[in-house]
Amino acid sequence: MRVLVCGARGKMGKEVVNAVRATEEMELVGGVDTAKGQVDGIELYDDLAEAIRQTKPDVVVDFTRPDVVLKHIKICYDFNVRVVVGTTGLSEVEIQKLKEEAKKDDWAALIAPNFAIGAVLMMKFASKAARFFPKVEIIEYHHDQKKDAPSGTAIKTAEMILEARREESELPKHEEWEKIPGARGGKLEDINIHSIRLPGYVAHQEVIFGLPGQSLIIRHDSTNRESFMPGVILAIRKIHELKGVIYGLEHILFQD
Ligand code: NAP
Repeated sequence: MRVLVCGARGKMGKEVVNAVRATEEMELVGGVDTAKGQVDGIELYDDLAEAIRQTKPDVVVDFTRPDVVLKHIKICYDFNVRVVVGTTGLSEVEIQKLKEEAKKDDWAALIAPNFAIGAVLMMKFASKAARFFPKVEIIEYHHDQKKDAPSGTAIKTAEMILEARREESELPKHEEWEKIPGARGGKLEDINIHSIRLPGYVAHQEVIFGLPGQSLIIRHDSTNRESFMPGVILAIRKIHELKGVIYGLEHILFQD
């Protein structure tokens, strides 16, 4: 399988380059980033369309920036090349629009806000707990270079919780106000999400459920970027079995 890595000089891109090189049935055919040239034995292009024309990949993997990823997905669609997307920051509306517009039978995009298996399980467990615990807040912790907030994982977790909930919270609501705007975090419907950005973190999240007299905390920590690679490699392997735009690694991990 011929793999082209977009964002190849970035923190995630470098890991993907190493993981693809270490996988027997995969061939790294090149990279795309903001500068051209030869880096670490890879031919780097500064334009995805040109890179696809030159390297003829079977799969593109994208770990770039929230403001370029949509354009990259559309280029892959135009060239009929399947794409595995790890870049976060796409909105629900953008993903929905992509799903509606992707009409080809022989094309697929797998977009996953988190490729760490443990993080996917954290989201799954949180969606299971949601029907028993109507009140929940999410705290996500990332390195201070991260561009978007809240993280794609936090948004996806909140979406899965909202979908799994059968009833609205029956707990009494109380009046509250923020003495500093944003003190209670951002809200996706009634779920508060708090984003921490500090050196020393990679990607971490706590989903905190509360009921009178008890709390349940589901926590996942990615302590290095290798944690995402088994999920990325699985997605590259499986993408030829998929059709259309799929959002979330859980769709290839679980049958239920
Ligand atoms: P990063 O270190 O900044 O890497 C991004 C790379 O993309 C940089 O080398 C950047 O070059 C390059 N780039 C920028 N514009 C480009 C373009 N138009 N074409 C090609 N390359 C371009 O960021 P990162 O930490 O690797 O994260 C990348 C993305 O992955 C982020 O959205 C992050 O949230 C996401 N992420 C996802 C997961 C997951 O499991 N799904 C896990 C971790 C991170 P310059 O530096 O010159 O701009």
